[in-house]
Amino acid sequence: MRVLITGGAGFIGSHLAQACLERGDEVYILDDLSTGSLDNIRPLQENPDLSGRLFFHHDTILNPDALLELVGICDVVFHMAAAVGVRYILENPLHSIRINIQGTDAVLAECARFKKRVLIASSSEVYGKHLHAPLTETDNIIYGPTSKFRWSYAASKLMDEFTALAYHRNRGLEVVTARLFNTVGPRQTGAYGMVIPRLVSQALANEPLTVYGDGSQTRTFTYVKDVVEALMGLVDHPEALGDIFNVGGTEEISIRDLAERIIRASGSSSEIRIIPYEDAFPADFEDMQRRVPDISKILALTGFVPRTDLDTILSEVIRVAREEMG
Ligand code: UDP
Repeated sequence: MRVLITGGAGFIGSHLAQACLERGDEVYILDDLSTGSLDNIRPLQENPDLSGRLFFHHDTILNPDALLELVGICDVVFHMAAAVGVRYILENPLHSIRINIQGTDAVLAECARFKKRVLIASSSEVYGKHLHAPLTETDNIIYGPTSKFRWSYAASKLMDEFTALAYHRNRGLEVVTARLFNTVGPRQTGAYGMVIPRLVSQALANEPLTVYGDGSQTRTFTYVKDVVEALMGLVDHPEALGDIFNVGGTEEISIRDLAERIIRASGSSSEIRIIPYEDAFPADFEDMQRRVPDISKILALTGFVPRTDLDTILSEVIRVAREEMG
C-alpha cells in the first residue's frame, strides 16, 4: 500500500512512518519541517531495509501542487501535519490557525477529489476546560474567551473535525478522526512546551523540574507506539469512517506526581520548582485542569487498548534521552 503522511517528520508522524514501513508499505512524507525534523526520520532513511520505500517531500500542506501530486499517487492519507505545542501556538497564533484550518481543508479537499481514505489527527484540546472524567466523544465542549489564545488551537481542531464530517456527509469522503490525549515517547521535543521531554531533560541535567501552577492539574499520557497502533486500526476499519474516536491512556496523574516519578525513575538529585502560570506563560494563557479519555468507543470497534503504562513510558523516554546526551 502507498501511504501519505502529512507531518511525517514530526514526532507522531515519524513513528507512524516507521510502523507503515515495517509492515511493507511505501511511505510518502510531506512536511515543511516547521516543528518536525529530519532527525526524526534519519534512522529510517539510513535503514537499508526501509529506505527504498520512503520518500520525503519538503513542502507545506498549503501548497496545492504538492498535495495534488502526493494524494493522487497514494492509497491512504494520515493527516498529522499541524501546529503543535501550547507554547508554539501562543507564539505563532496566525500561522497555527492557517495551518490547522486551511491546511486541513486543503488535504480533505484533495482526498475527496481523488476518493482517498484519510485519517485526521485531532486533539483532546477540543474538549476544553472540563473538570469531569472520563471525557466521551459526545460530551459538550467548554472554551474560555477569545482573549485567551490557547483556545484558538482547540477551536481550530474543532473546525477540522466539523470539516471532516462535512466532507463525509456532502462528498462521501472516507474520513475518520482521532482525538489524541497527550501522546508521549522518544523523539518528542520539549521545545514547544511539552511537559515530559522538558522535565526529563531537566532531571537528567540535575536542574530543578519546572512545575507550572500548583501542579495539581492532571493529564493521561499515551505512548506513541500505542497511538500509532490505534491510528492504523481506525483507518483500516470501515465502520470507523465518518466518526470520531478518543485515543488515549488510562492512567491519570497530576503534574506534580509526574515530576516526582521522573526524579525517582532517573535517579536525579533535582528538586521540584513550582512556577506560577503568570511567570511561565503570557497573560493570554489558560491551563486545562484535567483531561482523561473514555476509550470504550475505540475498544468496542477495533479492540484497541493502550498497552504501555506510565512507568514503562518514562523509563523508555529517559533511556533514549540519556543515549542522545551521549
Ligand atoms: N507543564 C509544566 N511544566 C513544564 C511544561 C508543562 O508543569 O515545563 C504543565 C502544563 O502547564 C500542563 C501540563 O504540564 O498543565 C501538560 O503540558 P503539555 O504542554 O505537555 O500538554 P497540554 O497542556 O497540551 O496537555
